[in-house]
Amino acid sequence: MTARFVIACDGWRSPIRQHLQIPVRERRYGCHFVMGDFIDRSGMAEQAHLFFTPDGAVESFPLPGGIRRWIVQTPGPMLVIPRGFISRIVQQRAGLVLDAASQLNHSTFNPQRLDCASLYRGRVILCGDAAHAMSPIGGQGMNVALPMPRCSRNCCPRWSGAQETLRRSWSAMNKNAGAPPGSLRIAPPKACGWGPGQGAPPPGCGM
Ligand SMILES: Cc1cc2nc3c(=O)[nH]c(=O)nc-3n(C[C@H](O)[C@H](O)[C@H](O)COP(=O)(O)OP(=O)(O)OC[C@H]3O[C@@H](n4cnc5c(N)ncnc54)[C@H](O)[C@@H]3O)c2cc1C
Repeated sequence: MTARFVIACDGWRSPIRQHLQIPVRERRYGCHFVMGDFIDRSGMAEQAHLFFTPDGAVESFPLPGGIRRWIVQTPGPMLVIPRGFISRIVQQRAGLVLDAASQLNHSTFNPQRLDCASLYRGRVILCGDAAHAMSPIGGQGMNVALPMPRCSRNCCPRWSGAQETLRRSWSAMNKNAGAPPGSLRIAPPKACGWGPGQGAPPPGCGM
């Protein structure tokens, strides 16, 4: 198979990015969480609830289909999650009773951030977590990832105007997001490393 351009959306580990040897800067935030989805009998309806306690945080927010996600911070990584662990911690820290029998799944994560020295190499463009992983705590990773393929698609047919097109797309994305001053904003491409001298420019690209 041949293609003029490849858009790599293969997640934060991104084998494609590794294959291209694009340098990354990674930062682990050093905190650990266990999360599980429960059949929602909390009565909290559409509300998210956050509890910050001396023993660690508890987060809770609704998911579609009558499900609610509960996330508890743990002092370190947990390789084995005992049955009923989340319910126990939620009761200790938030005083809420969660029926362990209504738990549907569990998983663990530890937030990290990843920035790439360049968003492309040659005619391969990184998108989504392959290009920029961010802490899931802000709930923004997927939201930032979704517009990127469209942004890249706008650039691909005419590489020579790519930088300007990217800049316009990204500032439109920020405008549409309505981010208040000082809040997290999507960085313009140059700040993300999409600039001269970082990665071989795509053929025909005037950068
Ligand atoms: C605990 C947690 C909670 C989150 N909560 C939110 C939230 O509330 N809101 C939000 O916006 N974001 C959230 N995020 C972030 C969000 O999940 C990611 O930003 C988003 O999934 C990135 O999408 P992606 O397609 O770039 O990568 P991924 O979702 O990682 O998808 C990459 C895909 O590529 C596949 N793949 C990799 N290599 C190959 C290969 N060689 N061949 C074929 N397939 C391959 C992988 O199997 C995977 O399916 C959360 C993340 C975590 C960890």
